Amino acid sequence: MAEIVIKDVRKEFGDFVAVKESSFTIEDGEFFMLLGPSGCGKTTTLRMIAGLELPTSGEIYLDGEEISQKPPAQRDIAFVFQMFALYPHMNVRKNISYPLVSQGMPRDKVRAKLAEVARILGIEDILDRPVGSLSGGDRQRVALGRAIVRDPKAFMMDEPLGALDAEFREHMAQELRALHDRMGATTVYVTHDQLEAMQMGDKIVVMNNAVVEQFGTPQEIYDKPATMFVADFIGSPPMNFLSFSGNLASGDTTVELYGHPMSIPQLREGASGDLVFGVRPEHIHLATDSPYRGEVLATEYLGTTQIVTIDTPNGEVKSRIASDQPAKMGDRVGLAFNPSTVTLFDKSSGRALK
Ligand code: ATP
Repeated sequence: MAEIVIKDVRKEFGDFVAVKESSFTIEDGEFFMLLGPSGCGKTTTLRMIAGLELPTSGEIYLDGEEISQKPPAQRDIAFVFQMFALYPHMNVRKNISYPLVSQGMPRDKVRAKLAEVARILGIEDILDRPVGSLSGGDRQRVALGRAIVRDPKAFMMDEPLGALDAEFREHMAQELRALHDRMGATTVYVTHDQLEAMQMGDKIVVMNNAVVEQFGTPQEIYDKPATMFVADFIGSPPMNFLSFSGNLASGDTTVELYGHPMSIPQLREGASGDLVFGVRPEHIHLATDSPYRGEVLATEYLGTTQIVTIDTPNGEVKSRIASDQPAKMGDRVGLAFNPSTVTLFDKSSGRALK
């Protein structure tokens, strides 16, 4: 079992706050993503779990035991670095068995463990090759081999695929996820790539500016973004934001949008002030009879779908529609969306209305 609980964890480097009070739980066996833009505090969070940094305040629990101040060696957590930190002068066999040999494990046990890891990773035929002669993917497998050979309670991975080209990256991502599913070990994975996080993760923590913006399954984060930052960071193209300002009478669910009334069922009592309507591109359709109109600025062909950029009196809107629907630059089109798909945000705080 390896459940990891992060409780009010904060990290300062001198005057600089890299992670503000953060709390979330990584359940046993989860493939857990730490996602956010560069500098948001993902790596620092991962390093605190592994013990490579100590939190300024707050607690970290591994299986119920407080480990925040323990040295890395006493945590039984393996860290897989982005740079394939292998010993270049040693062959694959030695690279993988090194952690066991240095622990003083008997030779026959080391041999058995090595055989098991080589089988899991499918690298039996390269065990005698020097790592310097291997392809990027094989080197990545060897680095993983060195991490899993110790049977740690959990794996920490910091952008492990960052150095690979796009096509190969996708292949390795699938391989990593399949490996995780076979082994079932709790894995915490840092990435700035939202697509990677959505495809691979059981759960995602989205961080921005040292703060946890949201924590949930990929679907929860996509369908119910807690903040405008998350709505903008997740999804390609991201969620459209339509500003709306006006005084809604309490209980009023009808607003004026582009000079036309629209009924928004989610507008409940007390929702007032400056609001932003968030609508995903796939929920915006073209409808000839719609009173909400705009001009097509661009179309982007993506195979079965296309992204149509439309200039409206309230700014640009992107719509994802079927490729066979006619839309070309300069067309005047009507826009329609089902009001129930709208996410409402408070403009000043950026937070979604509950
Ligand atoms: P990236 O993807 O660029 O690595 P990140 O989200 O992983 O980004 P962190 O590496 O956690 O971000 O860094 C968060 C902030 O803390 C950054 O502004 C970074 O410069 C700062 N930082 C990290 N380590 C230290 C350190 N040892 N001393 C001072 N500042 C640090």
